Amino acid sequence: MVTRRPSCFGLYSKITGGQRIDMFGARVEQLPAIWRRLVDAGFESGHAYGKSLRTVKSCVGTTWCRYGVQDSVGLAVALELRYRGLRSPHKIKSGVSGCARECAEARAKDFGVIATENGWNLYVDGNGGFTPRHAELLVSDVDTETLVKIIDRFLMFYIRTADRLQRTAPWIEAMEGGLDHLRAVIVDDSLGICADLEAAMEAHVADYADEWRGVLEDEEKLSRFVSFVNAPDTPDPTITFVEERGQPVPAREPMLIGLPQVQR
Ligand code: SF4
Repeated sequence: MVTRRPSCFGLYSKITGGQRIDMFGARVEQLPAIWRRLVDAGFESGHAYGKSLRTVKSCVGTTWCRYGVQDSVGLAVALELRYRGLRSPHKIKSGVSGCARECAEARAKDFGVIATENGWNLYVDGNGGFTPRHAELLVSDVDTETLVKIIDRFLMFYIRTADRLQRTAPWIEAMEGGLDHLRAVIVDDSLGICADLEAAMEAHVADYADEWRGVLEDEEKLSRFVSFVNAPDTPDPTITFVEERGQPVPAREPMLIGLPQVQR
């Protein structure tokens, strides 16, 4: 059994490939205090739980790599700041690679960007998961301003036309005309809706607010963070942890998968 000092949450932590900090093992009643400490330190929610933008992975690009032809880190940061908190039919992942070697695996993302000598190539409608699909090239050698404008349109068109829980890959496969139709709509503006899509994205960017901070500033929302509504000071006694590799993990029965069990 893992015991924790009151001032130390003792969370299982790791850095993700998408440049997030994973933290596991918080009890629901601990969340406001954890968020308070993180918000005060300048962190904000990464929406790991949401049907929303998750990550914009990047390689180091020209910042550190001799092969890099563009600043992939700078673009990834800009894209993440622009689309953070964007609610969508399903999770959205992105990546930016600084050259065609593709270390950020941008072609496995809902929208991925690969640097070229002349600008950026934009790939769309890829994913990993149960049914992997390589993203397809939508536009090539565009400058940063054009790239962002097309991503704005792509994301808003997806959000407005996909079914709930439909990621971009099945969305494009179900679309009549497929990638050619998508390109006609969001690059060539064949339906005359691009200004509307761009305005919707601008509204999202202007309205963004960190959801952790929002909870901390709302007494009614804060009151929901208890294990039992009729005993708000009582933590759920069924949640216990054991230690593995120096960090806490859930105490649970070994899984019966027909393989020798690894001793903790
Ligand atoms: S994708 Fe290219 S620029 Fe980025 S780390 Fe890999 S080799 Fe370097």
